[in-house]
Amino acid sequence: MERIRMTDIIPLIGIPEPKYGRVSYNVPCPCCDDNPHKKHLNIHLEKDVFRCPRCGFSGGVFDLYAYYAGINRKNAREILYARLNLDSDAPVRKPKSYAPIDVVPECPITDVDTRHDTYSALLSKLSLASDHRDNLLSRGLTEEAIARLEYRTTPVIGNSALAKQLLGEGKYLPGVPGFYHTATGEWSFIREDRGILIPVRNPEGKIQGLQIRRDNVSKRKFRWVSSVGKKDGTRAEGWTHMAGPPQETILLTEGPMKADVIHFLTGQTVLAVPGVNSLTQLKPVLSYLREQGTQQVMTAFDMDYMTNPHVQNGYYSLAALLSEMGFQYGTYLWNPAYKGLDDYVWQCCYRQKNR
Ligand SMILES: [Zn+2]
Repeated sequence: MERIRMTDIIPLIGIPEPKYGRVSYNVPCPCCDDNPHKKHLNIHLEKDVFRCPRCGFSGGVFDLYAYYAGINRKNAREILYARLNLDSDAPVRKPKSYAPIDVVPECPITDVDTRHDTYSALLSKLSLASDHRDNLLSRGLTEEAIARLEYRTTPVIGNSALAKQLLGEGKYLPGVPGFYHTATGEWSFIREDRGILIPVRNPEGKIQGLQIRRDNVSKRKFRWVSSVGKKDGTRAEGWTHMAGPPQETILLTEGPMKADVIHFLTGQTVLAVPGVNSLTQLKPVLSYLREQGTQQVMTAFDMDYMTNPHVQNGYYSLAALLSEMGFQYGTYLWNPAYKGLDDYVWQCCYRQKNR
């Protein structure tokens, strides 16, 4: 008996086809996704299984076919052999036994409106520790600005309870980076190193993702909130952050916290990439800004770009992108004794003036 594969039945049931070369892909779940942009049903083409982490709908080729065809699972095999013109009289081979799925199932990212809604509710339940408040005040932000920007301290206890509370309020957790299923099958929020949680916003002010500024580390100080590698977790993308409305000239820097500080101190609109070498999400935002009338982009990366070749290469690709998109661009230089433009503006222009 020939084996019927997922790839055999997909054209028959009228669900979207996988892209070439994919081992697994996601489609809207027929049981729980009412919005076509939400795709929770994962179909594994090599293992011939499907599974929705949100509602638990899962099974093999015959289960999926029976569901879509609206027939009894018992009859699926026979009907499929007939539809596919396969020889069902051939001797039945023992079904191949599959190795247990060792790939941790991942949940595809959900849309920005949903992420914003869930993250906003999450932040409303968290507070800001006093050491973190002092840190932000020392950068030049005011109490009012800190509150408006919704900076928080990472939760280190009660993360499952937080997720439970959010679910109870009707918030949507699958596909929001940071949330995942625990071994007992409950949703939880990732437990990360202690640090400051920074909302990373799109030009409309919606929270796309969260970054953490980790306490007491010197390397990789900023990190995305992500639950990749956890069951039904979701990876973060290299989102850009925008502080301020579109303007004719905008500043481009590295890191959302720096962008918030520079915007607060100078009133200039600042767009931040996560790093000078992570520009994947930059192009769509720049296209949007160009439509809004932005003509000039001034880059303001930490002054170590003058000496660090790694940073320099990133800067060259950025300059190439800006020129290809038709922006005028230039760069701000400041006293290299101050690493970032935020430090420079705060130390030189504000502190000294107010002394
Ligand atoms: Zn589902």
